[in-house]
Amino acid sequence: MTVRVRFAPSPTGMFHVGGARSALQNWIYAKQQGGVFVLRIEDTDAARNKPEWTEGILSALDWIGISRGSYEGPYFQSANAGEHRAAAARLYESDRAYYCDCTREDVQARTGSQYQGYDGYHRDLGLGPGEGRALRFRTPDEGTTVVVDLIRGEPTFENKLIEDFVIARGDGSPVFLLANVVDDMTMGITHVIRAEEHLPNTPKQQLLWEALGVKPPIWAHVPVVVNEKRQKLSKRRDKVALEAYRDEGYLAGAMRNYLMLLGWAPSGDREIVPWSVIEDEFRLDEVNLSSAFFDEKKLRAFNGEYIRALPVAEFIDACQPWLTGTETIAPPPWQPEEFDADAFAAVALLAQTRIAVLSEIVPNVDFLFLASPLIDEAAWTKTMKDGSAELLDDAVAAFEALESWDAESLKSTLEAVGAERGLKLGKTQAPVRVAVTGRTVGLPLFESLEVLGRERSLTRIRAARLRLV
Ligand code: GLU
Repeated sequence: MTVRVRFAPSPTGMFHVGGARSALQNWIYAKQQGGVFVLRIEDTDAARNKPEWTEGILSALDWIGISRGSYEGPYFQSANAGEHRAAAARLYESDRAYYCDCTREDVQARTGSQYQGYDGYHRDLGLGPGEGRALRFRTPDEGTTVVVDLIRGEPTFENKLIEDFVIARGDGSPVFLLANVVDDMTMGITHVIRAEEHLPNTPKQQLLWEALGVKPPIWAHVPVVVNEKRQKLSKRRDKVALEAYRDEGYLAGAMRNYLMLLGWAPSGDREIVPWSVIEDEFRLDEVNLSSAFFDEKKLRAFNGEYIRALPVAEFIDACQPWLTGTETIAPPPWQPEEFDADAFAAVALLAQTRIAVLSEIVPNVDFLFLASPLIDEAAWTKTMKDGSAELLDDAVAAFEALESWDAESLKSTLEAVGAERGLKLGKTQAPVRVAVTGRTVGLPLFESLEVLGRERSLTRIRAARLRLV
C-alpha cells in the first residue's frame, strides 16, 4: 500500500508557522515511507477565503522547501462539492443520518442547559429533507471508537458521549467534518497528520469513514505550538505568519530546521543540523506530547548561525531583497543609483557576523550609500558630550595628515588622539561613529571609514563638528 498523506490548509489568512510545521512533518513522513504528499486547499468557506491567501500558501510552502510541482495537487475542496453532497445523501439513504429542524433554543429548552449537546430529538421522527433542515449523523448508542494515532497510541472515545452531529447545514451544504472526510477518502489518504486541535473531531470523522464503508486512515495528532505564556499561537496576538518571518530575513533553512525541533530533537544533542539529517532521523512517534514553545529568540539565534554559515557570495545574494525592496519588503532609505555594490561587498563579511536576520543589513550599511547619514538623535545626544567638539577637531586634523586611508592607520591615529585626553579607544570612537554612521552601534568603525573613503568620512566629521558649535 502506498502511503498517501495530505496537507489541507484553509486559505483564510496568512500562512501560520504551525501549519508550516504540519506540512513539513507530512512531507518528511511521505518521503520516508516512499509515499505521496498531496496538497488540498480547503476553500469551501467562501466568505472567509481569498485567492491571494491560496497563492500565499503555495509560495510559503515553496519557500520552506515544499516546491510547486513536487507534490500532488493543489486540489481544491470546492471542486469536490458534488462528492460531499453525494456522501451526505448516501448516509441519509442508509439511515445513518436524519434530518432535524431544531434550533439551538429548542434544544436548550428541552435539556434545560446551554452546555448540553444535541439530545437526539429527531432521531426517530422520520423528518424528510427540506429547506432549513440540517442533516445529523446518527452516532452509535454504545461501544467505543478507537482511533489509531501514531503519536498518542489508541485514544478511545465512548460513542454514547458523541452527539448526533451535523453533517450538512439547512441549505444542504456539507460541513467541514464531512467534506474533509470525503476528500481524504476520494484522494486515497492513508495517514492524516494534523494539529492536536482536531483530535475532538477525529472520533466523529472516523465514524463517518466507517459509515461510508471505507477503512479509516491512521492518524497522528501533533501537539500545538504555544507562545511564552503557553497560549496557543494566535494570529491576533502573536507573530505567526511564515511570510512575516521570511520578509524579516529569516532563512528558509533555519526556519524549517527550527520548526522541526518543536517537540522533537535529532540524535546526539544537536539542534542545528543539515536538512538531510532531519529527513533521516525524524520519527513521528517520537514527537513530544506536550505543547511546543515557539521561541522567537531561539529562532533568531538559529538564524544568525545559518547566516554566518553562508559563503559570503551567497550572503550577498541573500541580502538583495532588502537592498532593493520587493513587493512585500520596504525599499531601503537610499536611492537605487546611490547603491555601490563594491562598497557593499567590502563590508559584507563584517556585516554577516553581526546580524541575526537579513533585514538588519539595512541599518548596518545605509551610511555607505546615503549622501549624509541618518542621525539617530537619541544616540547623538547620548554621545556628544563636553569635549566632543574638540575631540572631533583633533580627529579631523589627525586624519587629514594620514598618508594611507586604511583601517589600521585610522585606528592607531584615533587611539593616539584619545590617549592625549586620557580616553580609551571606545570613548574616543563613539563621537566619530555617530558623526559618520549616525548610530552608536554598527560595523567596526575603522573598516567602515576605510570603505566610506577619505573625503566622505572627513566631510561627515566636519559637519558633525559644526553642529556642536
Ligand atoms: N482545513 C483544516 C485546517 O486547516 C484541515 C484539518 C485537517 O488537516 O484535517 O485546520
